[in-house]
Amino acid sequence: MPLDLDARFPREHLAFWPSPIHPLKRLSDRLGVEVWAKRDDIASGLAFGGNKIRKLEWLAADALRQGCDTLVSIGNIQSNHTRQVAAVAARLGMRCRLVQEEWTKWDDPAYGTVGNILLSRLMGAETLLEGEGYSTAVKETWTRALDQVRREGGKPYAIPAGASDHPLGGLGYAHFADELALQEKDQGFVFDTVITATCTGSTQGGMVAGFRAQDTGRRLIGIDTACDAAMTRKAVTKIARATAELIGVTRAIRDEDVVIDDRFAGPDYGLPDDATIAAIRTAARLEGMLTDPVYEGKSMAGLIAMAENGEFAKGARVLYVHLGGAPVLSAYHNAFAG
Ligand code: PLP
Repeated sequence: MPLDLDARFPREHLAFWPSPIHPLKRLSDRLGVEVWAKRDDIASGLAFGGNKIRKLEWLAADALRQGCDTLVSIGNIQSNHTRQVAAVAARLGMRCRLVQEEWTKWDDPAYGTVGNILLSRLMGAETLLEGEGYSTAVKETWTRALDQVRREGGKPYAIPAGASDHPLGGLGYAHFADELALQEKDQGFVFDTVITATCTGSTQGGMVAGFRAQDTGRRLIGIDTACDAAMTRKAVTKIARATAELIGVTRAIRDEDVVIDDRFAGPDYGLPDDATIAAIRTAARLEGMLTDPVYEGKSMAGLIAMAENGEFAKGARVLYVHLGGAPVLSAYHNAFAG
């Protein structure tokens, strides 16, 4: 049964849906497994897009309904999420204040000036470089930024890291399940396995809720990128259950519905290992498809390793969900030296 979320929750359209699906033919030949990509990275004209645009459609509608005038969010210095919040604010004619914490110790002076943060500033967002350390907890730096907007007479709309720990955070990727089901109907088959990068949790959490309303028996595998699989699991499970309740999925979300693979997270959040860099090169050179060292390069490394280890059944069709992130590449230029 389709969830039909458009009819039930206000949504601001910010992208060109459905995001395209296409086969990765040369990668499939290399791996001996049929791999397709669903391209959430190229579905929006807003500042190079990405998975946050899909989520923010529902939060933006809520912000407008409440009469807010400033979007306030938080992320890493090189956050894709905050760049997308800046783009949405620009599109809606709102102000934008972003707390950019140091979640990664990346030793390059360009890290604080190029890539995502450059784009956020270009779009008029105010960027506050304070705080450090990745966590899905509510940060004091963010609540202070919200208070500051209020003191200045503005009406802030609070968007947590990754637009995840928010009552509407899971709607975008629950809706993704309906979108994918229609595309599968057109194609005439269902994907056996869906691979997604996972971190703050509402991408995978929304999918878990949306897929639970379907009857496909597909596997959804989240590749942890936070380098803290227990924290990621907790976040995904919480969001999956809250979203399922919000949208009226009657089947319970079981612990086994949340599959987190912790083998490809690298040494830490934001730090690639050799397999991440090799996977980024493979996707670029075989498919002209750009992935990044923080998220999508890790999920691509996971997909490649699983294929090489024979972890996909014979004849399986695997869907790689591309969630964006390539605008960060220039900040990691020295990872590709040599
Ligand atoms: N991929 C990219 C490119 C991202 O920017 C993010 C954001 O954190 C993720 C994957 C992970 O998504 P989520 O934070 O919803 O788990």
